[in-house]
Amino acid sequence: MKQSNLPLLLLLLTATTTSIFNSCTRETIEEKIIFPDSNDDRESKNTIVAYNIFNDNIYLNKTFPMPSNGPAYIKKEIWEKEQKAIEEHKKRFKLFTDIIPAEYRKEITQFTVFYPEEGSNVYAYMGDRKENSLSQFSLGLAYDIDKGKTQIPSFSAPDNKLNTLGYDMATYAMIHEFGHYITKNKTQLYLSYVPESDNYVSNYKESSFIKQMVNISWKKKIPVELAISMNPSKIFNAFPKEFVSVYACSSMDEDGAETFAHFVLLNDKPEDVDGKNKKILLFYKNPEMVKLRTGIRQNLQKLGIVPGRPNL
Ligand SMILES: [Zn+2]
Repeated sequence: MKQSNLPLLLLLLTATTTSIFNSCTRETIEEKIIFPDSNDDRESKNTIVAYNIFNDNIYLNKTFPMPSNGPAYIKKEIWEKEQKAIEEHKKRFKLFTDIIPAEYRKEITQFTVFYPEEGSNVYAYMGDRKENSLSQFSLGLAYDIDKGKTQIPSFSAPDNKLNTLGYDMATYAMIHEFGHYITKNKTQLYLSYVPESDNYVSNYKESSFIKQMVNISWKKKIPVELAISMNPSKIFNAFPKEFVSVYACSSMDEDGAETFAHFVLLNDKPEDVDGKNKKILLFYKNPEMVKLRTGIRQNLQKLGIVPGRPNL
């Protein structure tokens, strides 16, 4: 573990385990969360601006200069406009807080706006904010995510590649990305120390959603050569009952996020008949997840998006 992470981790640990600190250090602890040490933040490619999150608000942390010998697809005027577009970014972030109930997103402490790579269909990402920590996450939204609000429902795509169940791309992306947090936080993974590199690596717990999904589909059904082929369509076509979408076949992590999104957005609890439904039912077995599902669906309703009557 890098030394710089230690004090913050200890502080957070103290905050959750030691009640004696509650009254006198609460402010300090919250302040730490609002303005965490950002020195060791992972920075993803083409990040234009990074904010710290506290409750429903974002606070400017860093702006990034345009890569000096950056790729030609990056337009200077867009980059420079986005560097200053705080009000616009608040609106974009609101899409996330409008949909995901507050009590479930406290560990998502960073919000970034990024420039998508050329030709990519990436609207958003969710990742651990720091190496060697499973307690702080970062949500990134493409500067042009709003275009997803009017996008044709992709379930009609010929190869089912971006199945959004008829919801607009931006709304669906919020739930999918949050699914990454749900399947990769500290209830799901643990860190183990690697002395050779003086570093920590994360591992899935046996009880984690992803480990169980791997046991249901990846390990049990899919031949190794196919699983490592990096060919989602081929995997989906060979085992259509094992996955909720083609995109879920991209990796076990995407399987986790896609299955979570389907758990939330499909109206009915499925029967335990095949691999994809067995995986959806993993979430139904967890009362906290059922509560979260209800919360997200109520929020969608408040936005006028009725689950089961998708908005596109
Ligand atoms: Zn994903």
